[in-house]
Amino acid sequence: MQFRDLQRQYERLKLPIDQAMADVVASGRYIMGVEVMELEKELASYVGTKHCISCGNGTDALYLALRVWDIGKGDAVFVPDFTFFATAEVVAMVGATPIFVDVDKDTFNISASDLKVKVDRIKKEGRLNPRAIIAVDLFGLPANFEALRSIAQKENLYLLEDGAQGFGGSLTDQRACSFGDISTTSFFPAKPLGCYGDGGAIFTDNDDWANVASSLRAHGKGRDKYSNIRIGVNSRLDAIQAAILRVKLQAFKDHELQLVNEVAEMYAQYLGNIGKVVLPKVPQGYTSSWAQYTIRLDSSVYREKLKSTLAADGVPSMVYYPIPLHRLEAFGYLGVDCGSCPVASVLSDTVLSLPIHPYMMENEVKQVVNAIKKCADE
Ligand SMILES: *Cc1c(COP(=O)(O)O)cnc(C)c1O
Repeated sequence: MQFRDLQRQYERLKLPIDQAMADVVASGRYIMGVEVMELEKELASYVGTKHCISCGNGTDALYLALRVWDIGKGDAVFVPDFTFFATAEVVAMVGATPIFVDVDKDTFNISASDLKVKVDRIKKEGRLNPRAIIAVDLFGLPANFEALRSIAQKENLYLLEDGAQGFGGSLTDQRACSFGDISTTSFFPAKPLGCYGDGGAIFTDNDDWANVASSLRAHGKGRDKYSNIRIGVNSRLDAIQAAILRVKLQAFKDHELQLVNEVAEMYAQYLGNIGKVVLPKVPQGYTSSWAQYTIRLDSSVYREKLKSTLAADGVPSMVYYPIPLHRLEAFGYLGVDCGSCPVASVLSDTVLSLPIHPYMMENEVKQVVNAIKKCADE
């Protein structure tokens, strides 16, 4: 069994994907061009924003957003402690300071109450200028944007949605990647909408920010390519990836988002109530795009035992994420104290992600569930 079976997706979409790639190769337009522009329109229309600016990957998308807002040295950016490294890496890349915020144990997403505590602390210390919140839609579930929006407004902070894992999720009929002042996503192959390499995108309703982001992704271009007006980067989405994404976006809308939710429902139904296993929660009004199906266990010892039982039955599983950001060596220079994000620390010791993807079959779900039950009975 595969953790996320991308070959199965390719088998299903082989004809249109092969055709789309061949068309790009035959067209002679390999950088930007019509495929990229059409994809950007389709993505913006799907998530419900005025602009979509594609770029090289999800990390660049976050970096570009911070650059658009001119965030840098002396600035504080609030990030969840439990996420992929890149969410906080980009803050350091622009010279600002990441402030780690604890997460909610049920949703895995940034905790609005701890955010208030951390913002107050930074204001009181007075060393750094609070500028932005990066809210991650972890494992496919949108963050608590109602609470975050009101804190952002009250504290005059930008809200940046890191929707790298969130594409396709929603909250009361509004789609993920439209909740931030700027929102971003990633098209890394294993994300909910993935290409066959690296890719990413920025979403916003703001015309000026969209303009600056398009300039920054192309070496800070001005009116034309050779009238550079700022220092930017080279971060474009390849035409061939855009063509692949157009096919995959159609499949995502037509059936994949629906199918992956059916797989999650099967897990919930078959797993039922097993002691020691806590299933992922999707709060009322939210939809997840299930980048991961992550359960919680009662200890790290039990997690290791379950992981090996699953492996013995041919079921791959992964720990996302084994170390909270504040304890990563790369952020050692910040000297954040160990007790600062207790929930994130517990989650790192006790979460386990199970195989999930739109093309997973019922008998495969049962195989995973049986292995979990076997372990629980021992
Ligand atoms: C994958 C991911 C990123 C980075 O995306 P890349 O395309 O790999 O650069 C950023 N944030 C989160 C939460 C991610 O999962």
